[in-house]
Amino acid sequence: MTPSAPEAPALPTRLLLGPGPSNVHPSVLQAMAQPLVGHLDPTFLALLDQVQTDLRTLFGTENELTLPLSAPGSAGMEACLVNLLEPGDRALVGVAGVFGTRMADVASRAGADVTRFETEPGTILDPDGMAQAIARVRPKVVSFVHAETSTGVLQPVEEIASAAREAGALVVLDCVTSLAGVPVKLDAWGIDAAYSGTQKCLACPPGLSPVSFSDRALETVRARKRPVQSWFLDVTLLAGYFGGERVYHHTAPVSAVVGLAQGLRLALAEGLEARAARHREAAGALYAGLAPLGFTPLVAEAHRLPPLSTMRLPDTVLGWDGDAGEAGLRRRLLETHQIEVGGGLGPLAGKVWRIGLMGENARKESVERLVGALEQELG
Ligand SMILES: *Cc1c(COP(=O)(O)O)cnc(C)c1O
Repeated sequence: MTPSAPEAPALPTRLLLGPGPSNVHPSVLQAMAQPLVGHLDPTFLALLDQVQTDLRTLFGTENELTLPLSAPGSAGMEACLVNLLEPGDRALVGVAGVFGTRMADVASRAGADVTRFETEPGTILDPDGMAQAIARVRPKVVSFVHAETSTGVLQPVEEIASAAREAGALVVLDCVTSLAGVPVKLDAWGIDAAYSGTQKCLACPPGLSPVSFSDRALETVRARKRPVQSWFLDVTLLAGYFGGERVYHHTAPVSAVVGLAQGLRLALAEGLEARAARHREAAGALYAGLAPLGFTPLVAEAHRLPPLSTMRLPDTVLGWDGDAGEAGLRRRLLETHQIEVGGGLGPLAGKVWRIGLMGENARKESVERLVGALEQELG
């Protein structure tokens, strides 16, 4: 370091209770602040092996091709779809919110013939309806979101996935807001390709996307008529580095992977069942704490997603514009109380808040801070 190095930019300390990113455990930040090693350094490669092993445990899979993709969750989505779909292939996408819509968009851009099975925001994809659509469309790929962060709904995976498998389709599942927050069992559910993100329930900084491909999915990619259009996301090339041979493909983001390694250790030391229970309990405390202030849950109890709660705003806030309205209240939470929450998306904008209790924040202390701040602002 030169003595004249400028001071690093300073950031405020926020409590991140939006749809992601969530707060990061200090030991993850410490892990990332260590001196850099090369991406082919034996110590880093040993750590990468462990990351891949731990990701298999989190995903509930034995898939050999399980890796931290060097890009955010949306790139994981793109990787799953562009590898499995060729121009003209039929895809059925369950659309229950913003991220299902994004999947359908990615699949169409890959040249697929896309059928959307849509549902009202805040409701589940009806498994019988999906099964009928699968029987009608006979798609090569069925794709949907496990935990729809735009609405706070946990989708029923098993029934939809088994209908897809029976029809011979490959199943792609978005696990961005479910992994490490609610149970994920790729092999038991028969999922062929799945992706997640590090910044939600894994409580690491944004920027990596854990992805997993079954052998069946990999065979499908290898049998393509033409190569995957994206060189970077082609899993047959990624397998050269992440699949054991460790041949150079791109420079892995070393510090980010070291942070993820620590995030995974924290999750596994806690235990996945205990971690899921902690997320459920925190969400329960949130509904109970916000009810007296006039907030009501959007989603029916049976389908709520513990890491992300969509709450209808109280009438006292809904009726007002500007500073007295929801955007003003959200700004005061951020500026006065250092708490970030998410606004509604699309048709739910201005009507609901999306409150994330993900990873480190899935604790009653976070709920107490939010409720206390809202009592001050609304009282
Ligand atoms: C956040 C999110 C994504 C996108 O992840 P990025 O890291 O923002 O690209 C995709 N799907 C779901 C369900 C998400 O919540």
